[in-house]
Amino acid sequence: MRVLIAGAGIAGLAAARALVAAGHEVAVLEEGDAPRLGTGAVTLWCNGTAILGDLGVGVGALGQRLSALSVRSARGRRVLDVDLDALAARFGSAARVVPRAALVAELLAGLPDGIVRFGSSVADVRIGADRAVVRTASGDEHVADLLVGADGVRSRVRAHVLGDLPAARTGIATWQGLIPAPFDPGTAMTVLVGRRGDCGFMGAGDGLMQCMFELPDEQPGDRPVENLRRRYAGWAEPVDKILAALRDEDIEAFPHQRHRVPRRLGHGRCVLLGDAAHAMPPVLAHGANQALEDVRALAACLAAAPVDAAVRAYSRRRRGRAAAASALAANGLAVTGPRALAQTSPALRLAAPPPALGTWAFGRMLRGLSDRV
Ligand SMILES: Cc1cc2nc3c(=O)[nH]c(=O)nc-3n(C[C@H](O)[C@H](O)[C@H](O)COP(=O)(O)OP(=O)(O)OC[C@H]3O[C@@H](n4cnc5c(N)ncnc54)[C@H](O)[C@@H]3O)c2cc1C
Repeated sequence: MRVLIAGAGIAGLAAARALVAAGHEVAVLEEGDAPRLGTGAVTLWCNGTAILGDLGVGVGALGQRLSALSVRSARGRRVLDVDLDALAARFGSAARVVPRAALVAELLAGLPDGIVRFGSSVADVRIGADRAVVRTASGDEHVADLLVGADGVRSRVRAHVLGDLPAARTGIATWQGLIPAPFDPGTAMTVLVGRRGDCGFMGAGDGLMQCMFELPDEQPGDRPVENLRRRYAGWAEPVDKILAALRDEDIEAFPHQRHRVPRRLGHGRCVLLGDAAHAMPPVLAHGANQALEDVRALAACLAAAPVDAAVRAYSRRRRGRAAAASALAANGLAVTGPRALAQTSPALRLAAPPPALGTWAFGRMLRGLSDRV
């Protein structure tokens, strides 16, 4: 079958890996002139690394393994501990923090030459009963048996197929940077949560540390680090150490955006994957993991049924879990207003589960959002 994939991000490249391996004739149209390596690192939970492993991606050599998740209050009191090593043993694959550039490069490296056509921006899409036709901005026309829309949060394929509203901003932004580690972050992901937001940090391999801060989504000032130092003043160690090491040029703002997860993630000869289907805030780090779940489900559905039936089956299989991940991400954190009261130290202390229960609950959440673990 001829498959056209719009977008060479994590979703599009992983889909290309899966569909080439299944014997399909695949072309990826990417509007950038070169791979979009992106900045920062992504956390891949046990489901994401397991799916990458199934695709033959050597994820175990990328970034750093995560052995634990440790959530603390702004005063440094224990809120939640998750033993990710125990979950790795249970699910057969470990969570990792992987620089985005390394993951994209590794996905690309396993594809035959020439499959990704850079500088090809999808401009127009027509979905017929038996084929999909795509026209690029430069006027080239491509015909395929299936079009996979993996063109991210501002997806043109989605707009054509669903005639849908674009993703909406949620009012929160993440300021994130991948910096030389100012101290040894160990192998845990640490997140401090308070009424004004949260701050997280974790090692990403090669002496790098990913750090992130959530803030109200306002116009970024000229001096973001000064703004962060004011907002996070008085938080427990090591927040001040991170802020002392940060420079304005180290961090970037990412306004949170969220799509309505559509009733159908596909239509006729077209499916949507990743952020094109269900962009969600990065809180709880599910976006790329859910994109990989999409890829796995699509490959399985195409292996089991003719294309129209496979598109319907893919939608049924993925919609509920993607919507659940999106709801968790949207409700997982507040930075202002009454909901943020639940993030004060006394409120968090009341809600803190014993460690074994935290690990169990986190594993249950991953299992609930995944087809793989
Ligand atoms: C700050 C931040 C932190 C995050 N952290 C995590 C994390 O820790 N763990 C996690 O699982 N997820 C995380 N995410 C979410 C994750 O990054 C996304 O869900 C994931 O990258 C989506 O991949 P994608 O391939 O669907 O989209 P994208 O990565 O956006 O790729 C889309 C591709 O399509 C191309 N494109 C766009 N339009 C066209 C067109 N018209 N024609 C051709 N090509 C086109 C783009 O150039 C791009 O290459 C985070 C997101 C943010 C913003």
